[in-house]
Amino acid sequence: MLWSGWGDPEKASELPEPVRLLLRDLLGVRAPRTPAVGFGEVRLPVAALPQAVLDELRAAVGADHVRVDDEARVRHTRGKSTPDLMRMRAGDGSQAPDAVLLPGSHADVLEVLRICSARRVAVVPFGGGTSVVGGLAVGERGFTGVVALDLGRLDRLVSVDAESMVVEMEPGLRAPQAELLLAEHGFTLGHFPQSFEYATLGGFAAARSSGQASAGYGRFDDMVVGMTVATPRGTLDLGRAPKSAAGPDLRQVILGSEGAFGVITSLRLRVRRAPEEQLYEGWRFASFREGSAALRRLAQDGPLPTVLRLSDETETMVGLAKPGEIGASAAESGCLVIVGYEGYEGAGKPERPEQAQEPGEPAQAAGSGRSGQAAGGGRGGRDRRGGEVAALRERVAAVLSGLGGVCLGTGPGESWARGRYSAPYLRDSLLAAGATVETLETAGFWSNLPRLYEAVRLSLTASLGAPLVMCHVSHVYATGASLYFTVVTAQDDAPVTQWERAKSAVNEAIVAAGGTISHHHGVGRDHREAYAAEIGELGVEILRGIKERLDPAGILNPGVLLSPGSRA
Ligand SMILES: Cc1cc2nc3c(=O)[nH]c(=O)nc-3n(C[C@H](O)[C@H](O)[C@H](O)COP(=O)(O)OP(=O)(O)OC[C@H]3O[C@@H](n4cnc5c(N)ncnc54)[C@H](O)[C@@H]3O)c2cc1C
Repeated sequence: MLWSGWGDPEKASELPEPVRLLLRDLLGVRAPRTPAVGFGEVRLPVAALPQAVLDELRAAVGADHVRVDDEARVRHTRGKSTPDLMRMRAGDGSQAPDAVLLPGSHADVLEVLRICSARRVAVVPFGGGTSVVGGLAVGERGFTGVVALDLGRLDRLVSVDAESMVVEMEPGLRAPQAELLLAEHGFTLGHFPQSFEYATLGGFAAARSSGQASAGYGRFDDMVVGMTVATPRGTLDLGRAPKSAAGPDLRQVILGSEGAFGVITSLRLRVRRAPEEQLYEGWRFASFREGSAALRRLAQDGPLPTVLRLSDETETMVGLAKPGEIGASAAESGCLVIVGYEGYEGAGKPERPEQAQEPGEPAQAAGSGRSGQAAGGGRGGRDRRGGEVAALRERVAAVLSGLGGVCLGTGPGESWARGRYSAPYLRDSLLAAGATVETLETAGFWSNLPRLYEAVRLSLTASLGAPLVMCHVSHVYATGASLYFTVVTAQDDAPVTQWERAKSAVNEAIVAAGGTISHHHGVGRDHREAYAAEIGELGVEILRGIKERLDPAGILNPGVLLSPGSRA
């Protein structure tokens, strides 16, 4: 991973000339005055951990697994939001941890938490480092030091219960490795966020991630049937049945806790049989309103494909759904919908047990797209075994064309699928060219979605002048959907402050318009105040109580979810 940008440096690409010209003419983007610094120029604070504490930590995880070198410290500084990258490009390593620890077991993690609680050392669990909400950037004072707890050595597929279709996996597994291990057993998680190449299973659970195929497979938190968590007070082992009425579900306390309540050291996950066939296609609607109505119909009445994504007029015109082709083709009109289908090819394919769903189970959770609908849909419908992609496609087509959609064939869909992980590389090129590009997301009920959409757009325009604001509906549910915005603007002389001002205004606008502050990126430090407004004082009190009980010394990722002052 590039330390000051995204991904494999080999995949970095130059901005196409038409895009450079568009940025200049449309947004007034000019090359930044100061180019990005080199790795050796990053300014790191003097490491603060006393030798005696380092010795204890070395005894806990092994001397080879405690790193204090500059390379390890820089690579564990912050996450991958645009302000994070801007700070690194400017050589600001002020939030670097003093040391990086690589535990090899649950027992190691417990011992690290014991030592750090006793010595008042802040511990930041570190998965793939792809947080975009300030989830990894400890800035709070009052600690003996800060360590990043890199879970990369916890990377095993521990067990496979093929009968229940439940696997146990360790949290440090990156998504591609997890998929490769599962493929050996014919399974998949079906979790493909845009950060797929680098993010880890632990990070997905801790931040309640959602992937591009969520219409078919559900969110990551839907996949977690159990987990083991190391806390400063001991071990939590949660989840022993598919569903339970035994009191409140404590898994939900850990999911989304972003390392503030404990460290997830093992996950029991429900898996699906890997599909044999995938097909992606494009549809066009005349307007975002009409496209949204069509997605709503599919989400509410079925059939639901695996991938469903609707770009608004601006995003369609720019061609952001196909990043590999931006600037290469003529601007498109209307609103592009990407639809993805998965299934089995034909006769003689693996028998799949019927996935009878429990009433109340999220429609997407069983990968069947529609819960309890005779219509079937998604990946599990009885009527579609054998050539199910073709059958599902036909039924989806009937709904979309009936609501005014025009099929564009597989071209746009395949192009989206090819480029689905390339937009973050484009962000690096845009930053280098002098543009700020950042994404943000929210979710709301269908009836409130137009208001939310307008509120976010207005707030960004009011704060940034005349930015380019693009949006797509990224995840759909029977009751509502997630809106995912991409903003591009010319950098001013203080681009981090420029963006932070805009972000803070947009956070307020989202709360005021009745949306949630995050559908899948999480809270981190960046959404903390808006989250408090969303859950109210009593909600904050409850979280504070949990934090104090599990982490009495307040060492676990201080500052995420709750403001530092929220600790007793
Ligand atoms: C380019 C890009 C695209 C993205 N696309 C998506 C997307 O499509 N969908 C989506 O949901 N998100 C997306 N994200 C956000 C990010 O990838 C997710 O939040 C992801 O879940 C983070 O995983 P990670 O392993 O990188 O975790 P990290 O960034 O390392 O950590 C995230 C948070 O979880 C905590 N944490 C990590 N591991 C553990 C653990 N084992 N136990 C306890 N706490 C832990 C950390 O302390 C931190 O607070 C994107 C980010 C980027 C940069």
